[in-house]
Amino acid sequence: MRSVPSLLSMIDEPRAPAPTVMPWDYIRMRREAAGLSVEQAARPFWHRKEHRADVERNMHRIETVGFRVKRLWDMSRSFRLNLTVYRQLCDTPPDMHPRLCLACGWDEWSAQLDAEGFDCTWSDADPQICTRCEQLGRPLFEARLPNFHPTNTPHGGHQIAA
Ligand SMILES: [Zn+2]
Repeated sequence: MRSVPSLLSMIDEPRAPAPTVMPWDYIRMRREAAGLSVEQAARPFWHRKEHRADVERNMHRIETVGFRVKRLWDMSRSFRLNLTVYRQLCDTPPDMHPRLCLACGWDEWSAQLDAEGFDCTWSDADPQICTRCEQLGRPLFEARLPNFHPTNTPHGGHQIAA
């Protein structure tokens, strides 16, 4: 057992604080939790082949780091996403973000069944995730390009306006 860790070893500690789920992460988490690729998630939104590329481009865009949509369209034909949560992730600083499952993006205001058919709740073993993700062993989400995260920009990283 080590005594007092040096500052450097603390900085190097791989166990970082929980990553901040940003709006683009949230959409990706909910889509992946539904088991859909971007193309599959886009499918219910186009009917004529000539619209396909546009729809798929838009679906990719909303998952792009730094991208926020003022009025996100209703995703329910494809996967379940809480528009109020999305809005809060867009409009509030990270310390005011609603609590989300860090594996699937579930929020406690949305009904979701766990793998055993019961209502989802927070895992006792790991309160960062929901009971469904605990049962499924789903991995925690990993933030992409952490320099874009306002809470993690020691060198004055830029933010992209809504
Ligand atoms: Zn979950």
